[in-house]
Amino acid sequence: MPGSDKVVDERKRLDLDDQEHPIFVIQKHAAKTLHYDFRLEVDGVLKSWTVPKGPSLDPKEKRLAIPTEDHPLEYANFEGVIPEGSYGAGSVLLWDRGTYRNLTERRGEKVGIEEGLRQGHISFWLEGVKIRGGYALTRFRTGKSEAWLLVKKDDEEADPARDPVVTEPQSVISGRKIEEISAEGDNR
Ligand code: MN
Repeated sequence: MPGSDKVVDERKRLDLDDQEHPIFVIQKHAAKTLHYDFRLEVDGVLKSWTVPKGPSLDPKEKRLAIPTEDHPLEYANFEGVIPEGSYGAGSVLLWDRGTYRNLTERRGEKVGIEEGLRQGHISFWLEGVKIRGGYALTRFRTGKSEAWLLVKKDDEEADPARDPVVTEPQSVISGRKIEEISAEGDNR
């Protein structure tokens, strides 16, 4: 974690309960097609993947995750409407947010999250409102159509019977559903 004052200030401003750990955020995004954007704080930015179906709590479900460009840390607070004509035009809902711990290992040795990303495999524990527990992100295709898989670990937080993408559609900060954000349009 770099010690840049700007990043430290930004993390304070995000007003998260647990300042010791890096943050993650999942934004539900009604752009041309509805998808979920999964973002992890790494080295002062939000590393980002588009997950069309959102996260699963079932270790047998592999969710496609397409890497997208890094976003600034303050984007972890964004909920609202991206205007027509701008990149990602459509409504954004803060679907889940919290902190994570890096659990990445290789041959029994701890691996930093950046190194894991370079190698194409990271493992982490999420502490969100809706989503908790271990997950792995693994790259299975490189090059122009680079693609990863987001998979729940088989731990005590795994629960194939629970599907919060369906049962808990509301924002964790405003309680709104995506249709309400589209209708109200207020940016944060
Ligand atoms: Mn998106």
